[in-house]
Amino acid sequence: MPQTVNHPEIVEPGGVVGILGGGQLGRMLAIAAAQLGLKAHIYCPDDHCPAVDVASASTNAAYTDEGALAAFAAGVDVITYEFENVPAQTIAFLTSLGAQVRPGAKALEKAQDRLREKEFINEIGAATAAFYAVDSLASLEQGLRKVGRPAILKTRRLGYDGKGQTTITDDDIDLHGAYEKAIAFAWEGVGAAPSILEAFVPFEREISIIGARGADGDIKLYDPAENVHRQGILKTSTVPATVSDHSADNAAAIAALLLKALDYVGVIGVEFFALKNGALIVNEMAPRVHNSGHWTSDACAVSQFEQHIRAIAGWPLGDPSRHCDAIMENLLGEEANIWRDIAHEHNACLHLYGKHEARPGRKMGHVTRIKPIT
Ligand code: AMP
Repeated sequence: MPQTVNHPEIVEPGGVVGILGGGQLGRMLAIAAAQLGLKAHIYCPDDHCPAVDVASASTNAAYTDEGALAAFAAGVDVITYEFENVPAQTIAFLTSLGAQVRPGAKALEKAQDRLREKEFINEIGAATAAFYAVDSLASLEQGLRKVGRPAILKTRRLGYDGKGQTTITDDDIDLHGAYEKAIAFAWEGVGAAPSILEAFVPFEREISIIGARGADGDIKLYDPAENVHRQGILKTSTVPATVSDHSADNAAAIAALLLKALDYVGVIGVEFFALKNGALIVNEMAPRVHNSGHWTSDACAVSQFEQHIRAIAGWPLGDPSRHCDAIMENLLGEEANIWRDIAHEHNACLHLYGKHEARPGRKMGHVTRIKPIT
């Protein structure tokens, strides 16, 4: 029987933060922990995890390995995760040992399933695209009648960066010659997996907001960023976003509502579609630090990474205000090869993740270009 794990109210400097997942987000969390005098222990099933290079300890084991998980839990003061697809059973097992997992299972459970997520967002009074649960060809047809075309079919689980999605437009219908054929093609496109059909939102721009809630319930919000995606992958995040004060306040209010409703501790990323009339539609929430908040490392006194570590360690939250304007650009695949040129630029803050293989679309690093507030 594994021993029960104790967790302190506040993780003092010298304490250990356990991080499930070893990608670039884990790496930046580990660096932030080190800055605060804390140690990071990375738990990652893959080889060559970028976070391991900057952590004081690591475990390379599966999320189902209960022995490894118990040893990990016994060696850390608090546990967090850097991506939302950590199996729910892993969190349940760690919690059953008495480990403190922040943010908790509730946020993860909602964020892992696009249908539950949208229902929850509507429950707290925020708008989403019209949606319909799809688990067969017949329900896809019903869904299309309800939400109309164009529409986007997305798998309920395990989708990210536009993966596990297919768009159904009138052009597709023409291309395939017949409605039935086009629908069958879309259904195959998501692997005939339980999915959600969403109405296509004719947005003017995409924005996101990074929020944090401390263990004492305090809430801090960063300025919204304006995001541009390329083939479903974030390319740039710009602050300030070109939205009205009213829309920015609205985004902050929705993020705060979500944080409270989830009894959340840590950083959350909430993505929105902004319509021409200023209305906001929530696209999704990520129960973790978020790519569209990377600019905070270079444009704020306390970055989203430090904020997350402060929250989960029971520390007071820091000041999220912005001391400069910024454009964060993701360096995808071979784009990171221009690091030498970026290194020559003034006011360009370069971050490389230490990944070896520059596969197309892979996030290899980012650069944040800063300038005085306009
Ligand atoms: P997601 O993985 O759901 O965040 O989708 C990736 C990107 O696809 C979004 O950032 C949007 O650019 C686009 N997208 C997703 N869902 C919709 C929608 N319902 N309407 C319009 N564009 C969408």
